[in-house]
Amino acid sequence: MSAHQIVVIGSSFAGNLITANLLKDIIPATSGKTFKVIQIAPTDEFYFKIGAPRTLINPQSLPLEKSLVSVLPHFEKYGAEKYQFIKAFVKSIEPASKTLKLSTGEEVKYDSLIIASGTIFNNNLWSTARGSEPLRAELAELHKKLPEAKTIVIGGGGPAGIETAGELGDLYGSKKDITLYSGAKQLLNALGNKNMGTDAESRLVKQGIKVVHGIQITSQRSEGGKDVIELSNGETKTVDIYIGAVGDKPSTDFVPTEWLNEKKFVKADGKTMRVEGAPGVYAYGSAASYSNGSIMDVFMAKKAFIETLKNDLAGKEPASRTNNVYKKVQSDMQFVPIGSTQGVGIAFGWKIPSFMVRMAKAKDFMIGQFPKYLEGTA
Ligand SMILES: Cc1cc2nc3c(=O)[nH]c(=O)nc-3n(C[C@H](O)[C@H](O)[C@H](O)COP(=O)(O)OP(=O)(O)OC[C@H]3O[C@@H](n4cnc5c(N)ncnc54)[C@H](O)[C@@H]3O)c2cc1C
Repeated sequence: MSAHQIVVIGSSFAGNLITANLLKDIIPATSGKTFKVIQIAPTDEFYFKIGAPRTLINPQSLPLEKSLVSVLPHFEKYGAEKYQFIKAFVKSIEPASKTLKLSTGEEVKYDSLIIASGTIFNNNLWSTARGSEPLRAELAELHKKLPEAKTIVIGGGGPAGIETAGELGDLYGSKKDITLYSGAKQLLNALGNKNMGTDAESRLVKQGIKVVHGIQITSQRSEGGKDVIELSNGETKTVDIYIGAVGDKPSTDFVPTEWLNEKKFVKADGKTMRVEGAPGVYAYGSAASYSNGSIMDVFMAKKAFIETLKNDLAGKEPASRTNNVYKKVQSDMQFVPIGSTQGVGIAFGWKIPSFMVRMAKAKDFMIGQFPKYLEGTA
């Protein structure tokens, strides 16, 4: 009897956490069938992008060797009959024949399919969506330019932009001309509690960072080793370094349009991770419509997703259920380090003091949590 093939697309927080749980717990607990997990991604290296602001700006403190690690030693130990990694981009899915077409020309059949392909940015600093080679190359270029750079612009007033500005503020303060364009009315504009953005701004300003609101960066090009950026107010600026930290989109070009919503997220039931109208297909993490892009929609949804997979892989009816469904936290949740000694934070709508943000996240960006996604314990 041939093995039931569970294909996982993606090798980041969502793809790795569920692969670890499939191999460690779900498959051993499912009797009567044999299973094989096939994981497909453009790189076997898992990027700890949560710490990326520090890896970008202060690599002595958080080097890439610590925040980009191969998943293979963690999963290949289960044996080739149980696990296979294919280094490729998924190019298309044919639901009728349950077949994936890959960038390598290969075709892969699935019995169950987990789409965990996350999001993609314009640049390659924040993800491995185009593989890890472009990430290494862009990072090396940034690290070469950074010490001598005089003018630095960051685009994006969300956590990634603020954290990057905070790292620059810690290292260089007003020794360099550093400007953050929020592109909105204020920093952390997506949060309900608007004091968070005001607090973040005053901390950045004290570090020597300029913060500008209401203007977006509309395009960027490289010219003679510098970055030329166009602004929504019609201005053009030439700066030594531009870091765009905004505008990621779901990496779902390969997904059938009937499985996508209008914003190109995979339409998944937020309680069970099942994809609407596609039995045996699931979407997990930031590519899925139930997620708002936060890592909480990975680790807090894990229990519900495991329950779903245990049920469906055992061949039970995918009935609606009330136990172990994912209940999304609706109140503000955000920890934003501003350099290594301070930050702003809010949990379940309650503001967290700066010293707690420092202890919980700013000192090391929670790198200690990283292995848990490969061990399945996050
Ligand atoms: C700088 C930064 C800091 C962050 N900090 C926080 C934080 O502090 N707290 C928080 O809650 N969230 C944070 N986030 C968000 C968090 O990183 C996401 O929630 C998380 O990455 C989602 O994981 P994922 O596995 O769903 O997707 P991703 O991490 O985007 O991974 C997608 C995976 O799919 C692969 N892939 C993509 N396209 C294809 C394809 N066509 N074929 C095959 N494979 C493909 C990619 O290579 C990758 O392996 C941060 C994000 C950034 C950028």
